[in-house]
Amino acid sequence: MDGKKIGIIIVVFTVVIFLVACIVTFKGKNLLAVEAGAQQEVGQKIELEVNSEKSDIRLPVWEPSGQYVDLDKLILVNKQNPVGKDFIPKDLVRPAYRAQNRNPDDQYLTREAADALDKLACDALGEGHEIVVTTAYRSYNLQNYLYNNYVKKDGKELADKYSAQPGKSEHQTGLAVDVSSPSVNYKLVKEYGNTTEGKWLAENSWKYGFIIRYLEGQEDVTGYTYEPWHLRYVGQEAATVIKDKGITLEEYLNK
Ligand SMILES: [Zn+2]
Repeated sequence: MDGKKIGIIIVVFTVVIFLVACIVTFKGKNLLAVEAGAQQEVGQKIELEVNSEKSDIRLPVWEPSGQYVDLDKLILVNKQNPVGKDFIPKDLVRPAYRAQNRNPDDQYLTREAADALDKLACDALGEGHEIVVTTAYRSYNLQNYLYNNYVKKDGKELADKYSAQPGKSEHQTGLAVDVSSPSVNYKLVKEYGNTTEGKWLAENSWKYGFIIRYLEGQEDVTGYTYEPWHLRYVGQEAATVIKDKGITLEEYLNK
C-alpha cells in the first residue's frame, strides 16, 4: 500500500468516526428531549385529571347565574360572616403576574385588585423579587370541594384551622390572593415569610392596598394560622392604617 492510499484510508476512517459521533450525540439529545417531553406529558396529564375532576363541581366565573355582586372592597368575610352560594363578584379579570403551573381558572381577581396586584408584582420584580399569583378567586363550589378534601385528609378540627368552610373564604370575594415565588418553588408554606420576597411583601404590600391578612399571633381574631402568602386587597387607605397599627381587618372594622 502506498502513502496515498493510506492517506485516503485515514481520511475516510476519520470521516466515518466523525459521522458516528454526530449520530450518537444527536440521538442522545433526542433522547433527552423525548424524556423531557415525557415528563411534561406526565405533568400535564396530572393537571388535566385534576381539571376534569373539578370541572363539574366548580362554578366558572362566566356562569350566568349568581348575584355578580358589586362589592365593597372592605367587605368582611370570615367564619362569623359568610357569603352565600351565589355570591360572585362583578368584573373578575386575570392579573398578568401569574404562576404558570396553576389552573388559570383559579387566578381571577376583581379588576381593581388585579391592577393593584400587577403594580405590586411589577415593582417587586424591578427590585429583583418574583412574586406571582398562585390562586385567587374561588367559587363557593370549588371551596366546598377543597374543604371537604381537607376534612377527609386531616379531620375537621385541623382542617378548620387552615381552610375555610364554603362561604367563609375570602377567596370567594375576588379580593384575596395567594402569592408565591421561585425561592419556595411557588408553594404556599410558612417559610415564605422568611424569604426576601415574603419580607418584601410584609414591608411593601400596604403601598398597593394589600394587607397580609393572617398574621402570626392573631389567630384568635382572624380564626386562621399565619399565612405569609395570603394577601387581601382593602385599598390603600385601609391598608396603611392596618399596617401602621399592626391590627387585623376585623379590628380595623371594629368587628
Ligand atoms: Zn389564601
